[in-house]
Amino acid sequence: MRIKFPDEVKIISSRIKKAGFRSYLVGGAVRDQLLGLSAKDYDLCTDALPEDIMSIFKKVIPTGIKHGTVTVLMNSESYEITTFRIDGKYSDGRRPDDILFTDDLTEDLKRRDFTINSIAYDVLENKIYDPNNGEADLKSGIIRAIGVPEERFREDGLRSIRACRFASQLNFTIENETIEGIKNCLSNIQDLSAERIYEEFLKIMKTDKPSLSFHLFQETGILPLILPELSLCIGVGQKGAHEFDVFEHLLRSCDAASPENSDVRFAALFHDLGKPAVRSIGDDGIPTFYNHEMESVKIAQSIMNRYRFPKNKMKRILQLIQNHMFHYTENWSDSAVRRFIRKIELSYMSDQYALREADIQGMTRGSIPEDGYGLRELKLRVAAILEEENAFSVKDLAVNGKDVMTATGIKGGPMVGHILDYLLETVLDDPKQNNKATLLDIASKYSKTLK
Ligand code: ATP
Ligand code: MG
Repeated sequence: MRIKFPDEVKIISSRIKKAGFRSYLVGGAVRDQLLGLSAKDYDLCTDALPEDIMSIFKKVIPTGIKHGTVTVLMNSESYEITTFRIDGKYSDGRRPDDILFTDDLTEDLKRRDFTINSIAYDVLENKIYDPNNGEADLKSGIIRAIGVPEERFREDGLRSIRACRFASQLNFTIENETIEGIKNCLSNIQDLSAERIYEEFLKIMKTDKPSLSFHLFQETGILPLILPELSLCIGVGQKGAHEFDVFEHLLRSCDAASPENSDVRFAALFHDLGKPAVRSIGDDGIPTFYNHEMESVKIAQSIMNRYRFPKNKMKRILQLIQNHMFHYTENWSDSAVRRFIRKIELSYMSDQYALREADIQGMTRGSIPEDGYGLRELKLRVAAILEEENAFSVKDLAVNGKDVMTATGIKGGPMVGHILDYLLETVLDDPKQNNKATLLDIASKYSKTLK
């Protein structure tokens, strides 16, 4: 059989069986393995009630007991077990008003979102239950809502976003009536919680081609509701080597970045969002985008606040966007390279390169020039300079604030910081000056010009 599972799943299923109940693997684990992919987590469904599961297993967390879900911990892995259920009316477009537990597997599979997510697998009997014909859709690469699509999307708006996300994740197409269903009930998208949408964005960023999701958001009308800032980039033409409008450029840059690093992917998706706001068209018809980095930072920040990105993640993404533009040429002096290192900060360096690479790849259809717009050369020069002992921040100077105060007679205050900054500039120009005697001499002379 094509479906594998850890021994723990078998142990869990056997225990449930011994207590007189049935259980099945369901959802992503079955779907992904039938596709030949590996499973990310193992969810089970059962006719046992949550309290039954709580009494069968020793280590159990009542994760979502109201909705019938408990988590069983075994050998430091967790397994979600959900009681078969029939969902009642959805009046808020997000979750059912009430749910009914049932002992009918088919009913449980019917309340799930897509046919491909509604295949159950009995690990003890090695048997598949697929009343919604999910396997056929898996084979054809189709995402199809179960039941009447429009009704299903009206129940829970997140399903529309999930449909687009699965399209990227599995490289599937959304079946026509399902697409129509999404288009016909967009009204509950705006009521979704920020956290649920953020989780979807994160999952989209881990797929091979996030652009598939964003194009579907555009096609269905979801995009202006969740990311109006990205919508505004559609049709905003660019100049020079750019072959695409800002929207396509952002999507292509995002695709070009690695699925392993969602910070760079988000930065790539957001890095030019400020362009529509700062665009001005010259007499020659050529657009310019003055100071678009800062505008992009502002817009990206408001998006990430809206979706409650973790603070640290947001900080990193904003910094990457702020510094995304640099055009290296051979004319850069060593001081210019050192100033570049100071600006970027070391812990950001590889992400900053990755963003620049993604940005370059997102500009054109063709391959990027052999020299990678100088990026390769810049990396070598940065690496060489990092090999030497160099000061890139005030902390790396051979003197500190106290030394400066003693040498200049200044008693503290912002002037000391200013002098240290001046010393750093001097050292960035000529690292040989970074010794205590020289710097104190410079500090003392410079301070006299300030009085
Ligand atoms: P992945 O783990 O790759 O996101 P998954 O299919 O396992 O995919 P989960 O969010 O873990 O997704 O949900 C598990 C299962 O629960 C789904 O496969 C689906 O059957 C059902 N499900 C999840 N969310 C919904 C929803 N909003 N509406 C209906 N059914 C849902
Ligand atoms: Mg899952």
